[in-house]
Amino acid sequence: MDIEKLEKYLGEIGEKSFRIKQIRKAVFVDGISSFEEISTLSKELRKKLDENFKILSFSAENILEAKDGQSVKALLELSDGNFLETVLISPKPGDWSVCVSTQVGCAMGCRFCATGKMGFKRNLTAEEITDQVLFWRQYLNGIKNLKFKIKNCDISNVVYMGMGEPFNNWKEVSESIRILTNKDLFAFGSRSISVSTSGIAEGIEKLASEFPQVNLAISLHFANDKKRDEFMPVNKKDNLESLKIALQKYFQKTKRKVFVEYILLEDANDTKEDAQELARYLKSIGNTHLLHVNLIGYNTTSGDFRSSSGNRTHKFKEYLLLGGINATIRKSLGEEIKGACGQLATR
Ligand code: SAH
Ligand code: SF4
Repeated sequence: MDIEKLEKYLGEIGEKSFRIKQIRKAVFVDGISSFEEISTLSKELRKKLDENFKILSFSAENILEAKDGQSVKALLELSDGNFLETVLISPKPGDWSVCVSTQVGCAMGCRFCATGKMGFKRNLTAEEITDQVLFWRQYLNGIKNLKFKIKNCDISNVVYMGMGEPFNNWKEVSESIRILTNKDLFAFGSRSISVSTSGIAEGIEKLASEFPQVNLAISLHFANDKKRDEFMPVNKKDNLESLKIALQKYFQKTKRKVFVEYILLEDANDTKEDAQELARYLKSIGNTHLLHVNLIGYNTTSGDFRSSSGNRTHKFKEYLLLGGINATIRKSLGEEIKGACGQLATR
């Protein structure tokens, strides 16, 4: 929703500023799907708005709900015919997180990731990013009474973990964070927002200075340059040493916890030595109490890799704990609908 354009229009047709407030609340907080629903506006104004403005900058092509009710994925068609995916996840009943995409495709080419295999198509605008949250708010409104019969059906978190590398589209991504945290619009707290990067050092520094309260996640996956080079081309530009420096600066500025994402790939990065190497690397950064490793299972994309067994995963976690590093094994949500991490690809 391009709210500035709408406000300008309302000004031109002589509407008073309290109308703007009413409309903002209806769109961003209540999640209406058409202006027709704003019963406090005159019929004439509602009609004018519906004729001249679209609330969402894309249309839903397909919506897939997982049987367990914990995740939903939507395929959205943008006005230029490109497609993107966005996911709604419920880690616990009544608690919803939206996973937003920042680009159509991704240029980073991580070998285990379905989005990476698509290549890069284009950046999303701040409006297209924040509209993904509006889309899910409207969706939850539509189903809450029908399905869940629970009062709290609202979105508590927004995670930038969909398609694309957020720091490759910082201008629009940073604007989208400003819109999400704007008290007059979505009004999310900065701490309810998380940005995940494949490890762009410059981006980490920008996040620390512009949004020190927004959470940072790093998709590390390998603590060895040779291996990381092989699976994640970004490492050739920003290797483990430059990431270390970026993280040290990040901690200096923010003193905030950073989540280190680590996919466990059988025989590629899941041995005792790999765990010890990871613990050594994280310790070398310092502030280990601010580092938390999330161990993620590999979600099948094209069959080049295999996820580590449950036994290995538990052992890996034990080695990290022995090495003085906090770690959690993350349950993957959304694999059934191919909406889990790394599975987003529109074709
Ligand atoms: N581009 C950013 C944001 C995407 S987040 C980034 O890479 O951080 C998506 C997360 O899923 C990242 O941690 C990514 O490394 C991880 N991922 C990619 N492919 C995966 C797969 N096949 N299985 C599990 N996780 C995967
Ligand atoms: Fe891009 Fe992230 Fe996928 Fe890597 S893991 S290709 S950075 S979306």
